[in-house]
Amino acid sequence: MKRRTTIHLCPYGVPGDRSRELAEAADDVVAGLGCTVALAPPFDVGLNLEPPYNARELLHALRQLRPSGPVLLLVDNPLIGDRHRPVRGASERGGTVGVVHIEGAADDVAAVAHEVGHLMGLAHCGYPGCLMGRRPSHDRKGACDHCVALMDAVGDSFL
Ligand SMILES: [Zn+2]
Ligand SMILES: [Zn+2]
Repeated sequence: MKRRTTIHLCPYGVPGDRSRELAEAADDVVAGLGCTVALAPPFDVGLNLEPPYNARELLHALRQLRPSGPVLLLVDNPLIGDRHRPVRGASERGGTVGVVHIEGAADDVAAVAHEVGHLMGLAHCGYPGCLMGRRPSHDRKGACDHCVALMDAVGDSFL
């Protein structure tokens, strides 16, 4: 499939070289979703939040910066969701802003790819091994055929 969208990874506390590695690895994992993953050009996120970061507040602040395309913020601190429940990441489904906690763990790439899937419009998927499963796992190799077919259908509807 032709890759139509670029999702930019924007480091916030995560070192640039680690972020570049993640961008390259995630770009391979999301092949089939019709997007490219790349490190963002230098971009001053100018956020001033205390960890643990409230994911909803963070996405709101990021949206105010009006990024020119989809941006996934890579943070080096824990995230909390609604009712202070810890979350690994959060993204607007089919939107422009997302965030993921980079833990320095084996499943960081899968966690990045999962949020990219949400930004591309995918919901959670119950197919074993699909990167859109609810719990990120480093043994997920990519999107399942069902998710890829969904992205193909979305692409066709814009032709
Ligand atoms: Zn998810
Ligand atoms: Zn799937």
